[in-house]
Amino acid sequence: MVRAAFALGFILAAASSRAASPFDGAGSAGVEVPKPNLEALQEAAAGGRQSGADLYYFSKEEAAAAKKKFGFAVKGPRKPGFTFDKDVPADIQKQMAADLAFIKGIAGETATALHRKIFGKVNGADYTKFFETRVSAIGMNSCGGGNAVACVIPFRDPSKMWLTQNFIRFSHPQVSRMMVVFHESRHTETQNGNWSHATCPTPFRDANGKDMKSIWTGAMLAGEPACDETPLGSYGSSTIMLKNIAKYCLNCTDKVKMDAGLYADDQMGRIIDADAKREMQEDFKK
Ligand SMILES: [Zn+2]
Repeated sequence: MVRAAFALGFILAAASSRAASPFDGAGSAGVEVPKPNLEALQEAAAGGRQSGADLYYFSKEEAAAAKKKFGFAVKGPRKPGFTFDKDVPADIQKQMAADLAFIKGIAGETATALHRKIFGKVNGADYTKFFETRVSAIGMNSCGGGNAVACVIPFRDPSKMWLTQNFIRFSHPQVSRMMVVFHESRHTETQNGNWSHATCPTPFRDANGKDMKSIWTGAMLAGEPACDETPLGSYGSSTIMLKNIAKYCLNCTDKVKMDAGLYADDQMGRIIDADAKREMQEDFKK
C-alpha cells in the first residue's frame, strides 16, 4: 500500500515537473505531491498566461486567433438569453441570478454620453440586454487561479462567461461583483478584438506617488496587463457603468451608490491614456 502510494506520487510529481515546475525531489514518501491541474495545463497550451495580479488577461494575438476561429459566427450582439452548464453549483447559479435581478431592477432616466454609447440608459432593461446579447452560456473555470471571480476566454468560446468558486466567496460589494461581470461581458466582443487589456506602466503610481495596487487582489499593478487605453475597453466601460450608477440611479440605496462611486474611481486609475482619461472626466461632469 505504502509502495503503491509512493509509486503513484512519483508519477504525479514527474508529470507536474514536466509540465511546469522543476522537479524538486519532493516525491519521497509522506510528502504531499501537488495534483496536476489539467485545466491550467490546457490553458497554458492554449497560450494563456495569468499572473493573478488582477482580472483575467488574454493577449491581442489570442483575440486575433479567436476571431479567426469564431469570427464568421460572431456578427455582433446575438439573440438574448443564456444557459448555465450542468456543473455550475446551485449556490453560484443562485448568486448570479440574484445579481442579475439586482441589475435588472436599476431605474434611471438619463446617462452620460459615453454610457449611452456603450450601454444605453442607467436602466435595468438596457443592462440586461447588454449582458444577454453577449453572454450565451455560463460555466465553471479556474480563470487562471488566485482571486479570479469570472473570465471570458475568447479562444475557447467568445460568448461564454466562466465563473470561479470565488464568485460566492467574494468579499466585495454586490455592485462591484457586477462590475467584474460587465467587464467580462465586454470581452465577448470578437468584432472589437475582445477589448484586450493594455499594459500598465512601470513604475505605476497614483497622484500621491503611491504604487497602484489591484482593488481585487492587492497586487502591484506596475507592468501588469491590467490597464486600458480607451474609455470603450473592459476597464473603461465598466468604470463608466459604475460612475453612472453612482450619479443617476434613482432607486439605489446610498450604500450602493457609494460603493459604485468608490470602485469606479479606483478603476478610473487603470485608464493610462491621457486623452481617454480626459474624455471620461469630461463625460462624467455632464
Ligand atoms: Zn479584462
